[in-house]
Amino acid sequence: MASTLSAAARRAKERPSPLTSGYATVVRSSRLTPGVQRVVFSGADLARLPDEEPGEIITLVWPTGDAERPVLPSDGWRYPAGTPEQHWRNYTVRDFVPDGPDGPLLTVDFVLHGDHGHCCRWAAACEPGMTLGFVGPRIHFYAEPGADWTLLVGDETGLPSIAATLERLPTGHPTLAFVEIADDAERQELATEADLVLEWVTRDGEPAGRSRRLEDAVRAASLPSGTPKVWVAGESLAVRGIREHLRDERGLPIGPQQAIGYWKHRLTPDDVE
Ligand SMILES: Cc1cc2nc3c(=O)[nH]c(=O)nc-3n(C[C@H](O)[C@H](O)[C@H](O)COP(=O)(O)OP(=O)(O)OC[C@H]3O[C@@H](n4cnc5c(N)ncnc54)[C@H](O)[C@@H]3O)c2cc1C
Repeated sequence: MASTLSAAARRAKERPSPLTSGYATVVRSSRLTPGVQRVVFSGADLARLPDEEPGEIITLVWPTGDAERPVLPSDGWRYPAGTPEQHWRNYTVRDFVPDGPDGPLLTVDFVLHGDHGHCCRWAAACEPGMTLGFVGPRIHFYAEPGADWTLLVGDETGLPSIAATLERLPTGHPTLAFVEIADDAERQELATEADLVLEWVTRDGEPAGRSRRLEDAVRAASLPSGTPKVWVAGESLAVRGIREHLRDERGLPIGPQQAIGYWKHRLTPDDVE
């Protein structure tokens, strides 16, 4: 199995980044759950997005000031000289239809984490016709056909990737998923052919990013034997605790690429870059 694992990892690592960039325009926006806004984008530039692995990552870029569109990088990740500071954040390709009757369609699920984030404020109020930039995508989860079972762990920000991954796991593949949500109203229908045991972990009033309930649920789990594919995403400190538990106390193979901080409590990517 070692060669299968490394071949998949190598392919993910060797793919150029970013592959492409362009503009995407909102075609519809709806409330998926009380805390998640589902936004569907279209645009000819999206035809260049590959659709290799579930839950690929794109960087979305917001226009500055009165500009209708953001400036796109013209050379890899470099912006033209003099480009004003633009808001950007990483999001997950929840779904991608490359060749629908209306052209390519990209679906992104935005967590509405209060009124203190530019992206979540924008998502809650966005309307058809609004345009963002995108840069990417990058592979975060790569399939490992040789894995005996799969473990997926995440909070609401990891859920789009977990949902997309579950849709593509092979029929009958033993899979455990732990998903932290604010409360039961945040549960989503997750489609899969895998043999899934799913636990929704509710915070029930505890603040996002400060709850240990996800780690506690993983600690209490009885895990199958064999070699798993493990993937963890969510608040950085929470992810670190889960990764250390899985690696040090359970002895599972889990590198930094498989346990990823998607956001930091009380910090933004601008604070930590
Ligand atoms: C690879 C990757 C993929 C991601 N995919 C998704 C995705 O599909 N959907 C999604 O919603 N998010 C996703 N995220 C997380 C998202 O990028 C961050 O939540 C981002 O900080 C939101 O930007 P903002 O402008 O709304 O808030 P920011 O300006 O970045 O932050 C403002 C404040 O909000 C807090 N904050 C940020 N996110 C949260 C949160 N989720 N809950 C509570 N407080 C928060 C920060 O600590 C800060 O205090 C992903 C992140 C990464 C790295």
